[in-house]
Amino acid sequence: MCGIVGYFGKRKASEILVDGLRRMEYRGYDSAGIACLFDGQIGLVKNAGKIKDLRAGVNASTDASILNATLGIGHTRWATHGPPNELNAHPHLDASGHFAMVHNGIIENYKEVRNGLAQHGVECISDTDSEVLIQLIGYCYQGNLEDAVSEALKKIKGTYGIVVMTDHEPGKLVTARCGSPIVLGIGKDETLVASDASAIIPHTRDAVYLEDFDMAVITDDGVEMLDLQHAPINREVTAMDWEEGAAEKGDYAHFMLKEMFEQPDAIGNAIRGRLDFDMGTAVLSGLDFSPRETALIGRVLVVGCGTSMHAGMVGEYAIEEMAGIPSEVEQAAEFRYRNPIITPTDLVVAISQSGETADTLAAVREAKHKGAIVSGLCNVVGSTIARETGRGVYLHAGPEIGVASTKAFTCQVSVMLMMALKLARTRRMPRHEGEELCGWIERMPELVEKVLTQNDAIKAVAQKYAQCEDTFFIGRGYLFPVALEGALKLKEISYIHAEGYHAAELKHGPIALLQENTPVVALLNNIPGKDKTLGNAEECKARNAPVIAVVSEGDEGVADGFDDVIVVPDCPPCITPVPTVVALQLLAYHIAAARGCEIDQPRNLAKSVTVE
Ligand code: GLU
Repeated sequence: MCGIVGYFGKRKASEILVDGLRRMEYRGYDSAGIACLFDGQIGLVKNAGKIKDLRAGVNASTDASILNATLGIGHTRWATHGPPNELNAHPHLDASGHFAMVHNGIIENYKEVRNGLAQHGVECISDTDSEVLIQLIGYCYQGNLEDAVSEALKKIKGTYGIVVMTDHEPGKLVTARCGSPIVLGIGKDETLVASDASAIIPHTRDAVYLEDFDMAVITDDGVEMLDLQHAPINREVTAMDWEEGAAEKGDYAHFMLKEMFEQPDAIGNAIRGRLDFDMGTAVLSGLDFSPRETALIGRVLVVGCGTSMHAGMVGEYAIEEMAGIPSEVEQAAEFRYRNPIITPTDLVVAISQSGETADTLAAVREAKHKGAIVSGLCNVVGSTIARETGRGVYLHAGPEIGVASTKAFTCQVSVMLMMALKLARTRRMPRHEGEELCGWIERMPELVEKVLTQNDAIKAVAQKYAQCEDTFFIGRGYLFPVALEGALKLKEISYIHAEGYHAAELKHGPIALLQENTPVVALLNNIPGKDKTLGNAEECKARNAPVIAVVSEGDEGVADGFDDVIVVPDCPPCITPVPTVVALQLLAYHIAAARGCEIDQPRNLAKSVTVE
C-alpha cells in the first residue's frame, strides 16, 4: 500500500533509502524503517512516526551496518494488521535475525501460516500479517535466497510487493510482486527497487516494471528476472518521462495547492494532439476502434473508486447524452463481487490515477475474464492497469503527490469527454456539434485559469466556514458528481463531515440535519435543472442553513438572498464540472488550511490504494 525502497550499489545505502522514503511520503504512512547489510551484519532503524524522525534515528546511529552499507531496504507502512508502532514497523527480521524483508500488501492466510510456523517452533513477535512471510523465508532457506523466497511465496495467499535480503548472501537483493507494484531502476553501477517511480527518478530514468508473480534477483552481475518456477523471463526497460522537479513542491505551501494551480497545464497536456477539429472528433490512440467496431459497442461500463468514480459519472452522463450509448458507472469493488452481467459488446473503462488501485484492477480482470472490451484511464505510465488493459489512455497530468486528487480528476473528466465525443461522432453527433465541443474542450484550461484567479475570494468564503462540523454539497445533472467530489475533497483534508447529495434527494432525509451551523454548497450553475436546484437551496435557507451559491458568470442574480457566492465561467453543461470542481477544491483547501490540517497527508489515508 505504501512505500518500498531497496538499494544495491556503491553509494551509502542509508541515505538513498531515507531520501527515497521521503519522496514517497505523500502516499500516506504511519511508520517507517530501514535495514542495511554490511560486513555480514544487518543493522535496523525503525520508528512509528515521520521520516524526519527516522532520519534523526539514522543520523544518530553508530551501527556499522547503517553507517557503511551500500545495500539495504526501506519501508513506509500504512498499517493494515496491528497498530503503527516500532515493533510492527518494517523491515521485519526472521527469528534467526539473518533475514530482513519489507512488504506492501496483505497476507490473507497469515493466521494459518503463523500457526503452521509455531508448530515448527518458529514464533512471530509482531502483530503484522507481513512477519509470517519473512519467518517462512527464513524457515525455507537452504542456501539460496531466491529459492527460499519462491518456496515461501507459494505458501501464501494475498498481495505482496517485497524486497528481501540475508546476511548469508550479502551481495543480493530479491524482490517479487503480486498485486502491489514494484519497479526497478537500472542505474550505472547501481540498482534501485521501489513501489513508486518517484523514489527512483533522481537516480535513473530506466525502469523495469515487474508483473504479478515476477521475481528479480539483484546482484553484482546485474538483474535476473525469473518467475516463481525459476524460469527466466524478459521485461523490457522503459524510459520514465516525468521531470524530477515535477515531484517537488517548489514555492507552494502544499502539493495540493501546486497541483490545483497546475490544472490549466495538466488539462492542456491531457488534450494535446487529441482533438481533430476537421472531423469534429477526438483521437485517442488507446481507443483505436474502427467506426464499425465502435458502432458495435452496446454499452459502456465505467469503474473506479473515490474521485475516479466521480469522474466516471461525468463520463457516463456525457456518453449517454452525446453518443446515445447506454452507460453505467459502478464502484469498482462492487463490480467485482456482485458477478455483473457482461457481454462481448460491453466496453469497460477502468479509471485509476495510480493505475494500481486494487479494486479497480480486480474489476478489470473480471471484465476481461467475462469477455468485455476493456480500456484503462490512468495517470501513471507503465502502471498495472495501464499494462493489463493494453488499450488505455494516459492522462499526462504529471505526478500527483497530494493525497487529495485534484488535477487527476479534471484530466480524467477531460479524457472522458473526449471519449464521449469520439463515440458520439461515430454514432449520432453531427460534425458541426463535434467541432463546437472540440472548441469547448480546448478552452477548458482557460476556464480553469479564470477560477484560479478567484483564489483570494474563495479563501475569504472558506475562512467564514472553517469552524463548521457538518456540510452538504448539492447539485443535479452534470453537477451531481461535482457535489459528490466537492464533499469528498472537504472531508478528506479538513475532517469536516461533508455529504454530497443530489439536490432533490436532500428532502428524503438529510434535510433533517440542517441548522444554522450546517452550510450547504449549492451548485446553481447555468445548466438544465438550475431552477429546481435553486428551489432546493431555498429550502435549505428556509431551515436556517447558510447557503454558499456557486453560479455562472453573468447569472449572479441567482445568488440573491444567499449567504455567499462563488462565480465560475459560463459554459455548456458537460464542460461545467471542470471549472466548478476547481472552485470546490480551492474551498476545501482553504478551509483545511484555516483549520491547520496536514493537507498533503491527511490522517488514515493513502494515495495509492493497493488493498481491497
Ligand atoms: N500488511 C502490512 C502491515 O500491516 C503491510 C502494510 C503496507 O502495505 O504498508 O504491516
